[in-house]
Amino acid sequence: MNLITLDFASSQDSHDGCNDASHSHAAADSAVQRHAPPAKPAVPEQVQEAIRTLLRFAGEDPSREGLIDTPARVGRAWLEYCQGYREDPSVHLTRTFEEVGGYDEIVLLRDIPFQSHCEHHMAPITGKASIAYLPNNRVVGISKLARVLHGYARRLQVQERLTAEVAQCIWDHLQPQGVAVVIEAQHGCMTGRGVCTPGVGMVTSRMLGCFLQDASSRREVMSLMGRG
Ligand SMILES: [Zn+2]
Repeated sequence: MNLITLDFASSQDSHDGCNDASHSHAAADSAVQRHAPPAKPAVPEQVQEAIRTLLRFAGEDPSREGLIDTPARVGRAWLEYCQGYREDPSVHLTRTFEEVGGYDEIVLLRDIPFQSHCEHHMAPITGKASIAYLPNNRVVGISKLARVLHGYARRLQVQERLTAEVAQCIWDHLQPQGVAVVIEAQHGCMTGRGVCTPGVGMVTSRMLGCFLQDASSRREVMSLMGRG
């Protein structure tokens, strides 16, 4: 089998199509002209008060100068961390290309950095994901795989479910011959508290279709991911 591997850093923009590029340029231009930063979302008083309560519980004084604006900042930060709740990640897979010049081998986006938060401690999960699929006539712009990942990562998660959700979304919407997702991540709730083991990575994988059923296909994709 001939295989094509795409490193995330070098391929992030190359397959993303003209629409995204022109859109972001237009947004950048208008921002320069207006000199106005985007409006900050409002954080309701009860949310800010909840964060002050947490600060007191942790041993802090929420009224000291350095913490005055912290409750609003934390509220806005959590809107960003959990932006995935207001997104349907599958929308990134609706625009597909069928003219692929006969290409019918593995497409792999490797080592995509991401951040999520664990649902048990609301602590950061930071890691890298490798996402591969074997197309069935249809491919997507390569950066869309990263967008699907971020759509599920920007929620409260457990790593096993994140891995499974990304794989299932690609399986359902691209209907490929196979999907392979491998995620390696560090959990703030392990590195910064509890057993305090910095540097330990947790690895999860989800294989569907040919990568689940065929051992040689699975070996090949794992080898491409650097895990052979
Ligand atoms: Zn945790």
